[in-house]
Amino acid sequence: MDDYYKVIFYILFGSLIMAFILASSFQSIITSPIIQLHKLINKIYVNKDYSIRSVYDSKDEVGHLSRGFNNMIKQIEKQNIDLINSKEIAESSLKAKERFLANMTHELRTPLNSIVGITSLLSETELNQEQKTYLENINLSSEHLLAIINDLLEFSKLGSGKLQIEKNEFNIRRTLERIKNTMQYELEKRKLHFSFKVDPDVPHFIVGDEYRLNQILINLVGNSVKFTPKGSIEIAINILSETESNIKLEFRVKDTGIGIKEEKQKIIFDSFTQESNGTTREYGGTGLGLAITKQLVELQEGKIKVESIKGQGSTFIFNIPYLKKTLFTQKKNKESKAEINIPANEKILLIDDNAMNLTFTKSILSKSKFIVDTALSAMEALQIIEEKDFDLILMDLHMPEMDGYELSGKIRNSTNEKTRCTPIIALTAAATSNEINKCFDVGMNDYLIKPFKTEELISKILNLTNEVK
Ligand code: ADP
Repeated sequence: MDDYYKVIFYILFGSLIMAFILASSFQSIITSPIIQLHKLINKIYVNKDYSIRSVYDSKDEVGHLSRGFNNMIKQIEKQNIDLINSKEIAESSLKAKERFLANMTHELRTPLNSIVGITSLLSETELNQEQKTYLENINLSSEHLLAIINDLLEFSKLGSGKLQIEKNEFNIRRTLERIKNTMQYELEKRKLHFSFKVDPDVPHFIVGDEYRLNQILINLVGNSVKFTPKGSIEIAINILSETESNIKLEFRVKDTGIGIKEEKQKIIFDSFTQESNGTTREYGGTGLGLAITKQLVELQEGKIKVESIKGQGSTFIFNIPYLKKTLFTQKKNKESKAEINIPANEKILLIDDNAMNLTFTKSILSKSKFIVDTALSAMEALQIIEEKDFDLILMDLHMPEMDGYELSGKIRNSTNEKTRCTPIIALTAAATSNEINKCFDVGMNDYLIKPFKTEELISKILNLTNEVK
């Protein structure tokens, strides 16, 4: 019986050893390649290196797994290379698009500047009725073209995220006065009544981007003027919410115009959309104005919507959060509240080497009651500045001998304090950020891109001359 147990024991022991030997050899054949594969996956994951491959190439299942894994990694590597290539192509075509747009707008602005200038000069001469009508049409068309170029430029800047929102203290009631002054000519021409209603609790001074608010309101009021054959336009400002340091204002631009169909109200804020296909034919425009306006409102963390009844009028409602001014500055600024209207007899020095541009800009300024001296070169300007004081200087950037940058540098280094502090606006046909940055670097206060609209010119001048006072 003992022998019997011994035999059983040896058989069991033998089988155990056999099982152990078999398991060890299986481990080197199956488990170890799988462990290697696992290490490889980790290495790829950590180093993001998709060029690594598994080296097992046997005919068995582990070999299949290894080859399958290699194929998968190869595909990921190829997809990654494709993605990098497409990203590079997209980036370079975006840059090319921006460059093209900047160059095109520059190329278009230069001849347009001449058309606008010559038209204006021609309108000052003796003309018969027929010629006057033709000239008016040229004027309308060039203004339309200018609006399109400006819209495209603004749109491309917004698209590339290049617009920055400023935070400065400004008088909101004065902003409205200025909009009224800017639109006066169009409003009178169309016999439209214009008014604004500001809640008396809205503070006189708030902190935010006045230039962008002005742009939004001009776009909306401009549309109202365009789409209102008769009646009135009103801007209303109310407080939506308020804390100790912040104030959210609601703006309403209301007109009694043609109105917008309900189904179109949602899409008019999209780029290149108008209420109907006949809109451009009848009223002009590109369908970009509201898309730009919406982006400008949202860039300032606000919202915009429209309420309208076809045939009865439209109200565009938007809100923007602002910061409040401290009590001290409010009081200080209230004292200087009187300078709201266009101040007459501001003295301006205008410098441009192009005689036609000079005459044209001078005629615009003189019509707006500014007293204008002109210089055809930087040298001549320096002489005039020695003899007289000015409230503002407008200068072309590209002039022979001494350009606008050098001249500004000389003015900013003048020994005469009044001269040193005179606001300078650059006039340029180039809309590149490089050129504009250079203007600010040499101490200029603002810039205007040629051809400019009269309202734009006046508004920039008033901005600076009022600031100085
Ligand atoms: P544009 O005026 O250049 O065509 P906008 O984006 O400013 O482009 O306006 C888009 C469209 O919305 C206009 O073509 C017009 O159909 C409609 N619209 C805008 N404002 C008004 C308004 N105040 N009254 C009626 N329709 C308007």
